[in-house]
Amino acid sequence: MATQAQLTVPTDAELLQAQADLWRHSLYYMTSMAFQCAVKLGIPTAIHGLGGTAALPDLVTALSLPPAKLPYLRRIMRLLATSGVFAATDVEVYRLTPISYLLLDGVAVVDGHPSQTSVVLAATSRHCVEAALGLTDWFRKDVAGSPFEDLHGVALFDGSMAEAEPEIDAVFNEALKAHDNSGFLAVLQECGRTLFQGLDSLTDCGGGNGTTARAIVEAFPQVKCTVLDLPRVIDNVPADGVVNYVAGDMFSLVPPAQAVLVKLVLHHWSDEDCVKILAQCKKAVPSREEGGKVIVIDIVVDSSSGHTHEAELLMDVAMMVLTNGRQRDESDWGEIFTKAGFSGYTIVKKLGARGVFEAYP
Ligand code: SAH
Repeated sequence: MATQAQLTVPTDAELLQAQADLWRHSLYYMTSMAFQCAVKLGIPTAIHGLGGTAALPDLVTALSLPPAKLPYLRRIMRLLATSGVFAATDVEVYRLTPISYLLLDGVAVVDGHPSQTSVVLAATSRHCVEAALGLTDWFRKDVAGSPFEDLHGVALFDGSMAEAEPEIDAVFNEALKAHDNSGFLAVLQECGRTLFQGLDSLTDCGGGNGTTARAIVEAFPQVKCTVLDLPRVIDNVPADGVVNYVAGDMFSLVPPAQAVLVKLVLHHWSDEDCVKILAQCKKAVPSREEGGKVIVIDIVVDSSSGHTHEAELLMDVAMMVLTNGRQRDESDWGEIFTKAGFSGYTIVKKLGARGVFEAYP
């Protein structure tokens, strides 16, 4: 029997609202593209150069745009002000918001928050947008790789991508650095003592160019830091005499230390791979009694609502479209720690969408 009788027919008012919501959902990408356009034109930096607030005509002049484009710029700015990228202080006058502060180029405004322009350029790049357009085809195909890999024939952040598409690879790597390096000073401030005080040594597993490790040594000079990353990454890092760099593979061996840090690495990998990586990390540290621990800093999806939750879910689908990784909630993380053989874990701090965990051998 059909269950049609149970279907509640929406009211006219609900249908009208639904139609507006349908437009909004179908046209969300216009916000992303207007956002990209603002970043490419350098609007946040121009507003900053004009003293933090700018009237539209001054903005047109500062950006060297044809004067006839002013009415079009007004429309873009109005949309972006609605989504919080800028704020309208008056008709036609715009000022920076915390989002636009993150998009200032060549201006060191917020300590520990490098400019995120490359993140916007990478996330809205043709390569990513096309991969997202391929989602339906990808669902119907029995393939293992991501839609990005399926479409472009190379995996994001893979060595072969650097050879096949050096330009876009450089944008992605810049974005990864900007994203991963932001917010670590907040971690040091909020829970640095709990994590690093009293440690004699630490390996930063997948530690990239050593920015995080150097910040740890600066705050806690007694910690001897080693950075493990792939040879193609380590080979390009100049020796600094502060941190020890090791080229290797975290699936085979993690250099031993009292603690291992794995920051924003695991969300790139499947659950099975995370268990393998964490098992190697566990092998590298001594027992819990001897102070052994693995510190994981990564995205934690929580069940709250609002913008942060929506951002976590968007990041999760982005990971699905672009990589083989995913974002996890606290119980997913707990399950992975247990499978990797840890006896227990604590969540030390939640900072925005990120969580700081300690897992014990
Ligand atoms: N932890 C850093 C970088 C995170 S990006 C930060 O927070 O800034 C993920 C890092 O993992 C990249 O630097 C990448 O080169 C590294 N990586 C990927 N596969 C690896 C492997 N098999 N062994 C070691 N490092 C690896």
